[in-house]
Amino acid sequence: MADARDRYLRQQIELGGAEVVTSRLTFPLPDREPGPVKAAARSDWKKGAPPIPADGLVVEPPSALLDTAGLTQLLTLDDVAGRIRGTFCCGLCPARTHAVPGEGDPNARLVLVGEGPGATEDETGRPFVGAAGRLLDSILGAVELLRTDVFITNVVKCRPPQNRKPLPDEIASCMPYLHRQLAIITPKVILALGGTAVEALLQKKQSLGQFRGLVHHYGDIPVVATYHPAALLRNPNWKKPAWDDVRIARQLLDR
Ligand code: URA
Repeated sequence: MADARDRYLRQQIELGGAEVVTSRLTFPLPDREPGPVKAAARSDWKKGAPPIPADGLVVEPPSALLDTAGLTQLLTLDDVAGRIRGTFCCGLCPARTHAVPGEGDPNARLVLVGEGPGATEDETGRPFVGAAGRLLDSILGAVELLRTDVFITNVVKCRPPQNRKPLPDEIASCMPYLHRQLAIITPKVILALGGTAVEALLQKKQSLGQFRGLVHHYGDIPVVATYHPAALLRNPNWKKPAWDDVRIARQLLDR
C-alpha cells in the first residue's frame, strides 16, 4: 500500500506542483483506512479535472479506394508491423536500426500518437522507451492506465536523423500505416502528443495552442491534442495544462 502511495506521489511530482500538494493533503494513511485509500487513489485524477470542451475540427480517414499500397489487405497490427519492418517507404528507412511500428493492446480504447522514434526507440524497436517514455508512463499511471492498456505509436516509424522533425514527404509516406493501425484498432479516443501528431492526424497546419482545448474528430473518434512528453521535460510549466488535456481524454474514455 505504501508503495502505491509513493508511486502515486512520484507521478504527481512529475506532473507538477499543485497536484502534489492536493495529493499529500487528501491521501489517507493506508494502514488505518485500507478501503478508502483505494477509493481515493482510484478517483483522484477526476478532482479538478476540466469539463470536456467543445467540438473542433472533423476529418475523415482516407478512403480504402485510395489504398495504393494494399494496406487494407493487412488485417492485424502484426501484419502492419511486418509490412513496416519489411519495407523502405521513405528516406528515413535506410538509416534505421529498427523500425518502430508501435505497441500495446490491439483492442486498446486509447491510442497515443507521437512524432517519431528517437535514439532509444531506434535501438530497441519500441516506442517511447527513453526519458519521454518514462514520463508518458507516469502520466498514464496517474489516470489509472498502464502502457499495456493502450496502443502507442508514432506518425513516422523510423528515426529522423538527429531527432529532427519529420519532413512533409516522410510524413506523407508513413501516414498510411497509422491510418491502417487506427482502422484496425478503432479506439474510443486518440491522444495526439505534440504538434506533428495532431497536424498529421487532422491534416491542418496550425499551432498546438490552436488545437488544444477542443475535442476534434478523426471520423467518429475524438482526438485530444496535448504537449509532447519531450516538450514537458524541457518546459515543466506545460505539465499542468498537459495534465488537464490528459484528464479530458480520460473522461472521454469513460463517456
Ligand atoms: N518521441 C516520439 O515522438 N516517439 C517516440 O517513440 C519517442 C520519442
